[in-house]
Amino acid sequence: MTDTPIRVAVVTGASRGIGAEIAKALAEQGRHVVLMARNVEALDAVQGQIHASGGVATVIPCDVSDHQAMADAIESVYADHKRLDILVNNAGITRDNLLVRMSDDEFDEVIAVNLRSVFISCRAALKPMMRGKWGRIINISSVSAVVGNPGQANYAASKAAVTGLTKSLAKEMAGKNITANVVAPGFIETDMTTALPQRVKDAAIQATPLRRFGQAMEIAAAVAYLASDTAGFTTGQVLVVDGGMTMA
Ligand code: NDP
Repeated sequence: MTDTPIRVAVVTGASRGIGAEIAKALAEQGRHVVLMARNVEALDAVQGQIHASGGVATVIPCDVSDHQAMADAIESVYADHKRLDILVNNAGITRDNLLVRMSDDEFDEVIAVNLRSVFISCRAALKPMMRGKWGRIINISSVSAVVGNPGQANYAASKAAVTGLTKSLAKEMAGKNITANVVAPGFIETDMTTALPQRVKDAAIQATPLRRFGQAMEIAAAVAYLASDTAGFTTGQVLVVDGGMTMA
């Protein structure tokens, strides 16, 4: 009998918030987790927490909006480990403004981080996954993509496009034992939502049947399922984790 290999997982935006919890959850599953984001000190802290819990993690500082750097970072993971099994595209930003006032830069920046980086990293990760004959890609979208949100035309467009990209990829890779799925969070307590005005937070809670914000670990649990060995029959799906906000 051969030992099951330690699978290697890349998580972008792993320096805080949802990404940090995803990295910890994958480490708990026994994955070697590669942590990517820009803030090296914060990445080191997450790595320290994973090591303290008995997990294994490596830090690769990377600005995902620098698309060559993103591709190089993914390639270096394969060069170092000779495998890449799981890719979680979680890094994301908002640059909210009403569309009538939105600048080209506010639109382009969001597309570069939230969408184009996902295309670049998926393309770079597919070759190692195909070589390994196994892969799990999980892209983080948002309920904004499902229902729209005033002030978030750029963000909602980027997240809706991530869903289209993921479903197309799932169909392309279905014969290769590589799954691709989306997790779409509702309002989650992180730096991204802390900055929201209180009236927006109150309205979000009112619109959420469970009457609270979600916790980052509740998104991480959904990602950990989709990354698991037993999730191999689930592909091209959008798993909405939003306290019931968008239930049909
Ligand atoms: P945070 O703002 O708390 O964290 C964002 C993460 O993305 C950080 O780790 C940040 O790292 C990283 N990041 C941002 N820009 C870049 C960049 N250019 N290059 C590399 N990394 C980058 O956000 P959340 O944890 O709340 O969000 C995580 C994901 O979940 C995002 O895709 C977001 O759109 C999505 N989401 C969040 C919701 C929420 O309510 N919080 C709701 C729906 C979706 P660093 O600054 O170190 O580079």
